[in-house]
Amino acid sequence: MDDGLFKTIEDRVSELTALTVDLIRFPTINPPGEAYVPCAEYIAGRLRKRGFQTEFVRGDGTPGDSDRYPRTNIVARLEGRTPGKTVHFNSHIDVVDSGLGWSMDPFEGIVRDGKVFGRGACDMKGGLAASIVAVEAFIDHYPDFPGAIEISGTVDEESGGFGGVAYLAQKGYFSKPRVDHVIIPEPRNKDRICLGHRGVWWAEIETKGEVAHGSMPFLGDCAVRHMGAVLNAFERDLFPALEQKRTSMPVVPDGAKRSTMNINAIRGGQYDDFTGLPSPNVPDSCSMTIDRRFLLEEDIEEVKAEVTDILERLKRDRSDFDYEISDIMEVLPLMTDRDAPVVQAVADGIRQVFNKDPEYVISPGTYDQKHIARIGHLHDCIAYGPGILDLAHRPDEWIGIDDMVESAKVMAVGLKALLTGAAQAA
Ligand SMILES: [Zn+2]
Repeated sequence: MDDGLFKTIEDRVSELTALTVDLIRFPTINPPGEAYVPCAEYIAGRLRKRGFQTEFVRGDGTPGDSDRYPRTNIVARLEGRTPGKTVHFNSHIDVVDSGLGWSMDPFEGIVRDGKVFGRGACDMKGGLAASIVAVEAFIDHYPDFPGAIEISGTVDEESGGFGGVAYLAQKGYFSKPRVDHVIIPEPRNKDRICLGHRGVWWAEIETKGEVAHGSMPFLGDCAVRHMGAVLNAFERDLFPALEQKRTSMPVVPDGAKRSTMNINAIRGGQYDDFTGLPSPNVPDSCSMTIDRRFLLEEDIEEVKAEVTDILERLKRDRSDFDYEISDIMEVLPLMTDRDAPVVQAVADGIRQVFNKDPEYVISPGTYDQKHIARIGHLHDCIAYGPGILDLAHRPDEWIGIDDMVESAKVMAVGLKALLTGAAQAA
């Protein structure tokens, strides 16, 4: 137990709260990618005072990047006294739009009842603040530490991370030998370690028809009715089959321990973004966006074949049925090994702070860890941070101040173990 380090973090509770409030006050809404530069500059300014080298890396040409909305990331690095491993804390600075239903200003950062309220409080400016305070406390206690510490504030996680972690990973920021261990302080509850996520396959299915006057639909071919047949086949054959598939991955919540598919959108016929009455037409095209989440036990080619087999069967059995399918995005499932050094180090922190073993979880949806694994080829990575995942993206989002303090202690212990302790040998 590291009483001195813990006491330092406890003594900085008002500083940790103030830092969280400051971060919330940058309305880093994505889309469009508002206030990224001032937020990144604020983080850089703070870390420079502690001796960090700071670098702004703009995701040039990535989706949404423009001079009005530059995709500006901040990467800060502090070299230790002697060579060693590098531990990197990565937080996204973007937040989703506030939406409706707030009982307060979402970007004021109100402190009340031991909580900080605001858009991004939980997802994930509270986690970013906790990691900064954890690192600063560690540096104060162990000024002669070996290796290096990095802290990044990255953009666009909420929209796929292409201008953020993916861009940095392409430039080598998330690969060995620069970095060895990565902790992403996403809100996963303070006593849980998130090892990875399920896989994703997004695709667009289009059914084809033939346009004709709506008073004589028999002269045309209705693409929307063909899509109805697709939906029926999915209801009858696909959804029940997905229900049966269970994973050994510790996904939370429980419902996500199965394969799932969301029908994200259906578009067919004339769009209704006009005033007046529609004209009578038989639609010649209908498209559906599907969002299939799959398990470590599933192969992506089989996942795709389940859908295309149904479409091929319709093509055989239903007259004039024709379709096209195109991939929009795919991400393979990911699960960091429980024996990995970063998992062991943070687990040790959870045991010291909470006097119990951590819970290991898998996220139902993906986050930036995917880019670190796939592009950076770095697998010693987890998500660990304060905040209740269910509060993310909701009105009156908040983070518990005690939760941030406890998580900061866990991160500081994990950092110490990775840089100086047993985990370094692994
Ligand atoms: Zn997040």
